[in-house]
Amino acid sequence: TLGLPSIWRAKVERTFIAIKPDGVQRGLSGEILQRFERRGFKLVGLKLIKVSEELAEKHYAEHRERPFFKGLVEFITSSPVVAAVIEGKGVVATARAMIGPTNPLNAPLGTIRGDYGIDIGRNIIHGSDSPESAEREIALWFTPEELLDWQATIAGWIYE
Ligand code: UDP
Repeated sequence: TLGLPSIWRAKVERTFIAIKPDGVQRGLSGEILQRFERRGFKLVGLKLIKVSEELAEKHYAEHRERPFFKGLVEFITSSPVVAAVIEGKGVVATARAMIGPTNPLNAPLGTIRGDYGIDIGRNIIHGSDSPESAEREIALWFTPEELLDWQATIAGWIYE
């Protein structure tokens, strides 16, 4: 393996992102995925999915008691979602930074929510907030067979 980028041998971090119904309906899916690809992150799972009430409630279980929970579940199940797993060094925190704060009006320009959103209940994209959440959410949304282990030949131009 001499000469191969070290990233090929490392255990690399993964995170879960979901382009919500508003992002898909507005035709932003390609644009958003492109941002992560251009940053250097690698897709390891990707699908268009009509979210069931059961999946929505499990995904947002921590918000069960919040006043916005019912509306949130209704919204996320209302129209297709693009679910993805992306991989790379520091991807959990970096994807969150690229997504921006929960309320798009507080989100800096250059973040996904800051560039495309206005209302908190239409904030375009979800991203796992910690490595532990990422692990839980990846297992919830994807089967092991849907996650591909593959080597990007450009890795040596992204990682030293
Ligand atoms: N949300 C909402 N109203 C609120 C707070 C949250 O509709 O007052 C929605 C919003 O879509 C947000 C999601 O609930 O993305 C989950 O909230 P969380 O605090 O986990 O924000 P995130 O991690 O998505 O930034």
